[in-house]
Amino acid sequence: MKVLVVNCGSSSIKYQLFDMPSRSVLSKGLVERIGEPGSALELRHREQTRRIESGIRNHDEAIALILEALIDPEQGVIADINEIGAVGHRVVHGGEAFTGSVVIDKEVIASIEKVADLAPLHNPPNLTGIRAAMQEMPGVPQIACFDTAFHTTIPPVAYMYALPYELYEKYGIRRYGFHGTSHRWVARRAAEMLGKHKYGINCITCHLGNGSSIAAVKNGKSVDTSMGLTPLEGVIMGTRTGDFDPAILFYLADKGYTVAELNTLCNKKSGVLGISGSSNDMRTLGEKAAGGDKRARLALDVFAYRVKKYIGAYTAVLGKLDAVIFTGGIGENAADVRAAICSEQDQIGIELDPALNQNAAGSGIKISTEASRVEVMVIPTNEEAAIAIDTYEMSQA
Ligand code: ADP
Repeated sequence: MKVLVVNCGSSSIKYQLFDMPSRSVLSKGLVERIGEPGSALELRHREQTRRIESGIRNHDEAIALILEALIDPEQGVIADINEIGAVGHRVVHGGEAFTGSVVIDKEVIASIEKVADLAPLHNPPNLTGIRAAMQEMPGVPQIACFDTAFHTTIPPVAYMYALPYELYEKYGIRRYGFHGTSHRWVARRAAEMLGKHKYGINCITCHLGNGSSIAAVKNGKSVDTSMGLTPLEGVIMGTRTGDFDPAILFYLADKGYTVAELNTLCNKKSGVLGISGSSNDMRTLGEKAAGGDKRARLALDVFAYRVKKYIGAYTAVLGKLDAVIFTGGIGENAADVRAAICSEQDQIGIELDPALNQNAAGSGIKISTEASRVEVMVIPTNEEAAIAIDTYEMSQA
């Protein structure tokens, strides 16, 4: 059976077509600039890359174009759309309602709509994608996989903000957390690699990419995570502040900043970009720092320091720690960032093997020494495969 995994943004759609249960990827691609000039589908299958430029006006047309490319008699990978047995959708916010992936029906759509104001940039395009796929593939089961679902096991002590309780009751203001599909995936892989049951591992998962979050996983379940009501909270990111004193906002409001400006400031102009003043890309910052750029160095140092603080905090939360796991673009590739995060961690019992750390890119491997009490691992994330597996399993049930 073929499973199509779809990740819909406001003007883009990423997809992968999986052959299940083998999980081999038959085709993957990206539609960009939907509804804008220059819209195009870029895809890769059978080792070949194609770019199809087309005036793609909306998400329906984008999905239709993807399906057309998949069944193209000469360059496609399947003979008929009916070979696609199910579609899995990444949905960013499931609120408190969704503790796992679900088959989409009218009630599920209504529930996703209900929490849309908690993720105004993500849930509406996710819903648009769901509707477009339903329109183009009527009768094919559509499954929603939520970024928040893995974190629904977080207890009240970790998700409550110390605000008046009625704000939680009235508006659902609490920690939800994101990147759940990735945290779950790497925690499960780590358990496998260490020969443990999936509910038998205590670990700290560090998803470090343009957006970054850390999760404390106890007995295979998320018990705390650094992102909050929105993805702004937690460690510093490419362009987001992470944790900071919220009174800074009142101070800046007094200086004349509007709410919209503060929103942009905190989400788009801060993080390592804000500190360095030059880039949100860790590779660029690494090169600049090596060339003597002090603010690039400071940005990298603050980034590593904040992740380190979370590892300390979550070690205390977990009590017993089996492994620290690095994933995401930075976590998987930036050996120097991992080394900085793991430096001087004798108290926790983390000791990196420098050679293993240097050569870890792209592979699921252990990078700690034999003497290290806590295993440190680099495990590539694969959110699409995780969604494909859930989708396959749900559609068989
Ligand atoms: P997103 O959150 O957008 O999915 P990614 O997980 O792709 O982001 O991570 C992007 C980040 O990973 C960028 O800051 C990029 O510089 C960093 N990165 C990717 N490859 C490397 C590398 N080889 N060394 C250092 N950083 C890297």
